[in-house]
Amino acid sequence: MSKIILTASSMACALRCPRRYWYDNILGLKEANPSEALRIGTAVHNGGEARAKGLDFGAQYAAALTGGTLDEWMAAKVFGILGAYCKRYGETDDCDYAAMNPEVEFTNPIDGSRTFEQRGKVDGLAVLKDGRKVVWERKTTSDDLAETSDYWSRLKFNIQLLAYADWVYRSSGELGVCVYDVIRKPQLQPKANIPDLDENGLPIVLDANGQRCIKRDGTPKKTADSAKGERMAGHAETPDEYGARILEAMSAEPERYFARREVAVTFDMLAEFRRERLGVCRMLLHFAAEARKSERPEYAYPRACNPDNCRSCPFAGVCLNRLPVDAKNPPEGFRIALHEELAEPHGAAMA
Ligand code: SF4
Repeated sequence: MSKIILTASSMACALRCPRRYWYDNILGLKEANPSEALRIGTAVHNGGEARAKGLDFGAQYAAALTGGTLDEWMAAKVFGILGAYCKRYGETDDCDYAAMNPEVEFTNPIDGSRTFEQRGKVDGLAVLKDGRKVVWERKTTSDDLAETSDYWSRLKFNIQLLAYADWVYRSSGELGVCVYDVIRKPQLQPKANIPDLDENGLPIVLDANGQRCIKRDGTPKKTADSAKGERMAGHAETPDEYGARILEAMSAEPERYFARREVAVTFDMLAEFRRERLGVCRMLLHFAAEARKSERPEYAYPRACNPDNCRSCPFAGVCLNRLPVDAKNPPEGFRIALHEELAEPHGAAMA
């Protein structure tokens, strides 16, 4: 009998909100139009994957646009992010690793469980220039990346990291090291109005008739007097200008937007993770047994309803309105899909 797949993201989802886990991993409900954050994150990831294969910036950007899920503003943002990344680390010749094997899938048994197995995909297995073999993982985040940020403390207990470490330990007998290659997402928004400049780089002040204001000495005015009906000439920012502004802003503060850190795993961390993971497997089996007796299967999966969870939940409209859903009739704006990370039915064995 095939085993039920547990991924780092499905385990995190089950711990966060069991009802969300049911929608996402048992029913397979997916948004027809994923959020902007998810689309940009996927595009940046695809660009990074192309880079890991040794492709140049143009090919990285083309890979990011594959699938056509980005509008022109999102594409501009991705252009700025990937461009600034290449400025920070070099376009193709990475400064930190000597070799990279990108996108490696793995399957790992779960000690104590005959029902579940761990699966995942690492962004890359790299050989560093000092000869050490590491898991290389790219991430985008909104968190602060400063040395003192709690982002790094939390990362040590990241389920994904520990699942990788468990796989590395089981296959090599060594405690692994993961290099996190993190990009902080820029929060810059397109500007409604940016000043027009003349050929000398000077701002343009227009009078009430739309004519450029010139002072008595023959030089152009640089500030507008609204009481006289004057205004600064300007235009709404274009996507090209927006992408260039993001590239410039991120390149000007590389320490703020980019960080690479090694995170090592200890035996204690691994043992604790294994216990927690087995607990999640048992919890899911309990819910599955209850679901078979429930009026509706989702009733067996409790809601963890709180603002932090529900505000960002794609299923909030369905869940909080108690709308019944089933695989044959997904609600408007949703589709039923296989588990997309690994192209496998995720929870079918428990349904
Ligand atoms: S809306 Fe809230 S309670 Fe419902 S599935 Fe999402 S996170 Fe869970």
